[in-house]
Amino acid sequence: MSRVALVTGASRGIGRATALLLARQGYAVGVNYLKDETAAQQVVTEIESLGGRALALQADIADENQVVAMFAKLDATLGSLDALVNNAGILFQQTGIEQLTAERINKVLTTNVTGYFLCCREAVKRMAKRHGGQGGAIVNVSSAAARLGAPWEYIDYAASKGAVDTLTTGLSLEVAAQGIRVNCVRPGCIYTEMHASGGEPGRVDRVKSGLPMQRGGYPEEVAEAIAFLLSDAASYVTGSFIEAAGGR
Ligand code: NAD
Repeated sequence: MSRVALVTGASRGIGRATALLLARQGYAVGVNYLKDETAAQQVVTEIESLGGRALALQADIADENQVVAMFAKLDATLGSLDALVNNAGILFQQTGIEQLTAERINKVLTTNVTGYFLCCREAVKRMAKRHGGQGGAIVNVSSAAARLGAPWEYIDYAASKGAVDTLTTGLSLEVAAQGIRVNCVRPGCIYTEMHASGGEPGRVDRVKSGLPMQRGGYPEEVAEAIAFLLSDAASYVTGSFIEAAGGR
C-alpha cells in the first residue's frame, strides 16, 4: 500500500510542486484547493499520468466544517493518512501598521494560523490511532518572514508565520510519544504567484540581489526540503526547522 499524503493549497506554487514530488515518491496525494478546481484537477491528472493516485479536495482551511469534511473524504477515498503538508497561505499587499485593518489581520490569521491548527488537529486524530509508534509526519510551511518580521511590508503575515513556528514546536512535543513527527520549512523568496496576488508581481526579482545566494528560489527546491522531513530519512527529526531561503 502506498503512503497517503494531504497537501493544502496544492493547485499551484509550493503546494503543487510538493504534491507532484510526493507522488513521484510513491504517495497517494490529496490535492487540497480553495477555488481553482481546474488547476487542482490538472495536478491530479499529472499524478495519474505518472501512474500515481490522487484526489482533488476542495476546502477552505479556515472553515472548520470544510476541514472536517475534507479529511473524512480523504479517509474514504485514499485511505489512512501518513503525511500532512500544511502549506496553504495568504499574504496581502505591503503596508505599514497604520493602514492595517482588523478585517485584514483576521483574514490572515484565520487562514495562516487557524487553518494550520485545524488541519493539524484532524491529522493528529488519525495518526495517533496507529500502533507501533508509526504515527505519521506533519510539515508546516512557515516563512523566513517569521524571524525577519517583514516591517513596513506585511507584519501581519510575519506574525502569523511566527505562530506557525510556535505551533510546530508545541505540537511536536505534544505528539512525539505517539510517533508523530512535526517539523517546519521556512521558505525565503520563491517564484510563485503569492506575491503577485499580494499586489507585487516581480518581487522576487526586485529583491534577489540582496539575498545571500543572489537568486530567488523555486517551488521544487522547497518541496525537496518538505519531502525530506516527511521521509524515513528524517525518522529521528522532530520539532525542527529547515530554512529554504538561499541563506536569508
Ligand atoms: P501561492 O499563493 O502560489 O499558493 C498558496 C495556495 O494556498 C493557493 O493555491 C491558494 O489558493 C491556497 N489557499 C489560500 N487560502 C486558502 C484557504 N483558506 N484554504 C485552502 N487553500 C488556500 O503561494 P506559495 O508561495 O506557493 O505559498 C505556499 C506557502 O509558502 C504559503 O504558506 C506561504 O506563506 C509560504 N511561503 C511562500 C513564500 C514565497 O516567496 N512564495 C515565502 C515564504 C513562505
